[in-house]
Amino acid sequence: MALLVQKYGGTSVGTVERIESVADKVIRSVEQGNQVVVVVSAMSGETNRLLTLAKEISKRPNERELDVLLSTGEQVTIALLSMAFHQRGYHARSYTGSQVSIVTDSAHNKARIRSVADEKIHRDLAKNRIVVVAGFQGSDEEGNITTLGRGGSDTSAVALAVALGADECQIFTDVDGVYTTDPRVVPQARRLDQITFDEMLEMASLGSKVLQIRAVEFAGKYRVPLRVLSSFSEGGGTLITYEDSMMEQAVISGIAFNRDEAQLTITGVPDKPGVAHQILGPISEANIEVDMIVQNVAPDQTTDFTFTVNRNDYERGLEILTQIAEELGAEAASGDAEIVKVSLVGVGMRSHAGIASKMFQTLASESINIRMISTSEIKISVVIDEKYLELGVRMLHSSFGLDRL
Ligand code: ASP
Ligand code: MG
Repeated sequence: MALLVQKYGGTSVGTVERIESVADKVIRSVEQGNQVVVVVSAMSGETNRLLTLAKEISKRPNERELDVLLSTGEQVTIALLSMAFHQRGYHARSYTGSQVSIVTDSAHNKARIRSVADEKIHRDLAKNRIVVVAGFQGSDEEGNITTLGRGGSDTSAVALAVALGADECQIFTDVDGVYTTDPRVVPQARRLDQITFDEMLEMASLGSKVLQIRAVEFAGKYRVPLRVLSSFSEGGGTLITYEDSMMEQAVISGIAFNRDEAQLTITGVPDKPGVAHQILGPISEANIEVDMIVQNVAPDQTTDFTFTVNRNDYERGLEILTQIAEELGAEAASGDAEIVKVSLVGVGMRSHAGIASKMFQTLASESINIRMISTSEIKISVVIDEKYLELGVRMLHSSFGLDRL
């Protein structure tokens, strides 16, 4: 018998029919001998609808009251789902976040979970009840209702799994797992049976958005196996787990890419201590986040400096950089918003040499120019022209043996 926490997202509970099929799915798990705690999101579109209502009253609604409002979305689904269990002859109990003592800090709209009391839930499970908990919410020490930020139900599920000592936290969603890359770009992309927490974090932060990153971090920290699977079909999904429990290890697990990138360059900067700070200081003061950075020294005591930013920050970044170029007596500031970042991700890189050179060779064979490179222990990223994105990812996918057999 396993103790499972199953989370169903907004699309999975988007209509009454879907809520009923979630009930059937949970019941199948129960009939297999599992104890199940279900965490649900609001019905799809509901959180947005509530937000719109609030914005009609105030551009910046009172944060405490906004949480009172937003938390109602999940309260609707827990009640309906529990009714569906009762209708099918099963014992069930629904709870809001604060009813099962999901205690958070007081940062309304983006609260962090501090503790979860598990006794009540264990007592219910012992009485053969299915426990249904509202995701995305808790309450602070004073009893004020809080919410965890958009997509926060994933984190609620993981926190409950940690507190209950669950065997697995299962995230049911509208995709059937984590893929080697985006199947819309590479039709041969494969669903991964397993991936490590570290790899998943790299894949997620690079744009393969399946799960809230915070939930992955949380599960990794407390070593709770996390599984992503489809609400709409059968199948084992993808297990996200720790490295030492992985069966067989591929060198490369996946290829992530990000189109939201832009490149900024300043050339002919007089090379002396402090220039990096003089260039990037004003950029960060403007709240522009910098990702990759490359600096080159030319023989004539000047330096070229290139970095990437989010594409939304491109215009503003270029403006600031042009100003800096003037101040520093540099040659010019320029930029390019039609670039992308492509990254190979795999823990196997740690023990295999030559991955980077194979990556470069693959891209060279298609005459794809690499503009920037950065590496970490389990990731190699390159910046290339946007027009080569599809081709580049497809070539890498097949040369690293990721294509579906
Ligand atoms: N209902 C919330 C949202 O739409 C939380 C969640 O779905 O995870 O962001
Ligand atoms: Mg969600």
